[in-house]
Amino acid sequence: MNDSIQANLAFDQQHIWHPYTSALDPLPCYQVSGAQGVHIHLATGEKLVDGCSSWWTAIHGYGRAELNQAAKAQIDDFSHVMFGGLTHQPAIDLCRKLINMTPSGLERVFLADSGSVSVEVAMKMALQYWACQGSPNKHRFITPRNGYHGDTFAAMSVCDPINGMHSLFTDALAQQIFAPAPQTRFNQTWNEDDIAPLEELIQQHHKELAALVLEPIVQNAGGMRIYHPEYLKRARQLCDDYGLLLICDEIATGFGRTGKLFACEHADVSPDILCVGKALTGGYVTLAATLCTEDVAQGICQGSPGVFMHGPTYMGNPLACAVANASLDIIATGEWQTQVADIERQLQQELATCRDLEVVADVRVLGAIGVVECKSVVDVATLQRKFVAAGVWIRPFGKLVYIMPPYIITPNELSQLTQAIYDVLA
Ligand SMILES: *Cc1c(COP(=O)(O)O)cnc(C)c1O
Repeated sequence: MNDSIQANLAFDQQHIWHPYTSALDPLPCYQVSGAQGVHIHLATGEKLVDGCSSWWTAIHGYGRAELNQAAKAQIDDFSHVMFGGLTHQPAIDLCRKLINMTPSGLERVFLADSGSVSVEVAMKMALQYWACQGSPNKHRFITPRNGYHGDTFAAMSVCDPINGMHSLFTDALAQQIFAPAPQTRFNQTWNEDDIAPLEELIQQHHKELAALVLEPIVQNAGGMRIYHPEYLKRARQLCDDYGLLLICDEIATGFGRTGKLFACEHADVSPDILCVGKALTGGYVTLAATLCTEDVAQGICQGSPGVFMHGPTYMGNPLACAVANASLDIIATGEWQTQVADIERQLQQELATCRDLEVVADVRVLGAIGVVECKSVVDVATLQRKFVAAGVWIRPFGKLVYIMPPYIITPNELSQLTQAIYDVLA
């Protein structure tokens, strides 16, 4: 490692926060010099196959010509204007695409600047909806355990209370209602007992509940759990029966990751409110959206004060919208379907070998998501170093070693990831 990289990393370590890490004794960081296709290039010369798609975002790979072109063209046009009182082609195109591609009934789009903000917006929509219906008592949320919905305060209140470290913030967080996490796996026979606890809690609390919030089919950062579509179907039904809105958080699962364009489609369900983000811009720039039904929009805006009370400064950022449009155009070609199906088949075959390893408790796969759960919590720094040495970028958390590679990954590159997982855990 040369002196300038060493100096950079020393500065970084002393002054820069990284996600979920100590400022005093941080996990090691690697300096990146570039990224192209499925590869992240380190300043020290290594070229790593990216198993994380930069946290679910870079589905089309890095440095994708269409996305580069869209960003450059939009910069030359204009990068940003306020969205209050102004609108523009990139936002109009994007919202039209989102309405067309998302589950039916979602007709109104709120553009937000990150996933967490889109969840805040969704929860605020639900609260304002019920307040305007004359039911201000419906101001709490119910959610399955093991969920993850972001790091801002309302989003945090519906994250798993243990993973989300609620104990740190107990007095500051809204007290929501937690149902047991879904137990029946995606491919198992549906077990009727799985929905009973949710039904009981909704029965008991519906008069104070605004909405059920969940990640459809795959619970992501709260445990990488993949559950039965019937749970989602029944959850939708319970919301209808008891007068709750259904908020589906597809920030991680959206845009093909689970083998369907949206995970809701596995259960043929449409939510009242939908959050999307992460892969929306193909991993180029932060952008998210909250979509809602006409009924929700009418319900909010027919009451007093007659407006929805939210408006981020960078709302509808044209640069982000332009890149998102280019990303959704690649999605529209449909090539993701064979890519994700091929990745799923290969992950199923190759990760299955990990089941024989002493340290492994479980292996599960859906779409372009592969999860190896260990019997005990892994040492992130050590594993990461071994993965880098093996030429791959994989970032475990807790007991989980998991991958969600860019859709463009080749079979050989994918084998590099699965082989590295096997070798490092062995
Ligand atoms: C990542 C994520 C979020 C938060 O999105 P940010 O852009 O990090 O704020 C919310 N929900 C789910 C399901 C996510 O995976």
